[in-house]
Amino acid sequence: MSPSHAHPPAKPGKPGIGKATAHAGHGIDRAAHLARAETLCADAGETFTPLRRRVLELLLDAGGPAKAYDLLDGLKSEAGAAAKPPTIYRALEFLTRLGLAHRVESLNAFVACEVGACARATIFLICDTCNGAEEFDAGHALVDVAEAAARDGFTIERTMIEAHGRCAKCSAAA
Ligand SMILES: [Zn+2]
Ligand SMILES: [Zn+2]
Repeated sequence: MSPSHAHPPAKPGKPGIGKATAHAGHGIDRAAHLARAETLCADAGETFTPLRRRVLELLLDAGGPAKAYDLLDGLKSEAGAAAKPPTIYRALEFLTRLGLAHRVESLNAFVACEVGACARATIFLICDTCNGAEEFDAGHALVDVAEAAARDGFTIERTMIEAHGRCAKCSAAA
């Protein structure tokens, strides 16, 4: 008998964070997200392998920034087989490349794209109190940056802004 791993919490740290940070109506549901992922993969000539799918599911379930290590635990307890860190990092890298997930550098965590897939420009508002990360579809906000860069002959392919502060919920609770 293999030892059973404890179910990891959806998110380390304080409770009460996560889905509430999403703008109502802006997020897409899990099934739509997975369907979109499948289409994107096909369009990119890639395969949406069961592992890649599972990792995306885990990210969606986390409802907020998740560390690769936490996802690893989720994979283990599901599959029973030992998923190795490089395996999950490759899957995360793949999802990030397609814009299905984003890497939040300052938290060293990954988060499923809130709007389905935005490969170009993303702004995260990260609450330092609850570690929630709210994603803005930042296309409009970053047009100026792209245009300014273009005037210098630079083509921006990807912009990621991580803004730290305190969310409305935590501000209200303070
Ligand atoms: Zn996104
Ligand atoms: Zn907060």
